Amino acid sequence: TAGTNRVYRLAVIPGDGIGKEVVPEGLRVLEAAARRYGFRIETDQFDFASYDYYASHGRMMPEDWKDRIGGHDAVFFGAVGWPDKIPDHVSLWGSLVAMRREFDQYANVRPVRLMPGVASPLAGRKHGDIDYVIVRENTEGEYSSVGGRMFAGTDREFVVQETVMTRIGVDRIMRYAFELARKQGRRRVTSATKSNGISISMPYWDERFREMARNYPDIETDSFHIDILCAHLVQRPDHFDVIVASNLFGDILSDLGPACTGTIGIAPAGNIDPERRYPSLFEPVHGSAPDIAGQGIANPIGQIWAASMMLEHLGESEAATAVEAAIERVLSEPSLRTCDLGGRADTATCGKAVADALG
Ligand code: ATP
Ligand code: MG
Repeated sequence: TAGTNRVYRLAVIPGDGIGKEVVPEGLRVLEAAARRYGFRIETDQFDFASYDYYASHGRMMPEDWKDRIGGHDAVFFGAVGWPDKIPDHVSLWGSLVAMRREFDQYANVRPVRLMPGVASPLAGRKHGDIDYVIVRENTEGEYSSVGGRMFAGTDREFVVQETVMTRIGVDRIMRYAFELARKQGRRRVTSATKSNGISISMPYWDERFREMARNYPDIETDSFHIDILCAHLVQRPDHFDVIVASNLFGDILSDLGPACTGTIGIAPAGNIDPERRYPSLFEPVHGSAPDIAGQGIANPIGQIWAASMMLEHLGESEAATAVEAAIERVLSEPSLRTCDLGGRADTATCGKAVADALG
């Protein structure tokens, strides 16, 4: 292939625990894809967003972190957190959440696909039956800090926390979901709502969904209350293509989805600024997994699939598709599976197999 000859500069942040073990496998596959498809990857590695950095600096990231990584084409992130040594709200809010917010990565995107060789807890489901994408609004909604507590400690005590929905915020996540459906040739966008119980904000969400749908006559739409939607995702997951959800509902669905597809070790996530004003961040869904860190046995597929999402975002669609196909080929081969999938391959063997499968 002649290739695009483009050069991509990545900020690489391995973070903690198995993040340090799976990120090199993601990079190995990116390098192989770059050779095969004719582009170049330049990486800058950063040691912040980790417990070690926190231990020697008293903070998760340097003061000038925005200047250091803000000019890169994307952030390739491993995992952060070490619950025994540092509370999650410090490690996460001081790093990952700060980046999501500062870089206005308003679309949290999680593909959910049942892969070959992975057993679903849903009886009778096999490779190909589950294949949808969850698009979660990542900046507003239920996770606002608007509210307060009054009469604390008395029997008149009351607590309020508001949901914030803005026209800009709702419309942009809806638009992203429809554009994604079109781009990936998917038929339907489903909206997660609860307008029968949440009587002001969710009807607004529904209204903006219907309004946005008019611009996409080629895409089917439907809408389910979050409770029945959860039931449907278990009972008829094959119905779904793209699901667009508010911050809270998206958070819930993006644990339910990957749980239905077997192992947390293979699921990826993109934190995306579709307008490309800032770098987007790509990571595996799993955490730092202190229980297996340092043994070289973590499943690197989540990180590698995140690399594929990153390639798609950067415009290397052909390479992105090839990486996904390579992942499927490797997972089909029992001897190349890691222990979370019942195999005996170590992290590097599995990662190298994906790189080799790219040809
Ligand atoms: P979070 O970081 O969201 O708080 P967590 O700390 O609850 O997540 P993880 O760190 O993802 O959870 O680990 C949950 C379990 O899954 C652990 O037992 C861990 O060993 C296992 N696990 C996570 N990722 C992998 C992986 N890539 N390969 C194998 N096992 C994994
Ligand atoms: Mg964790």
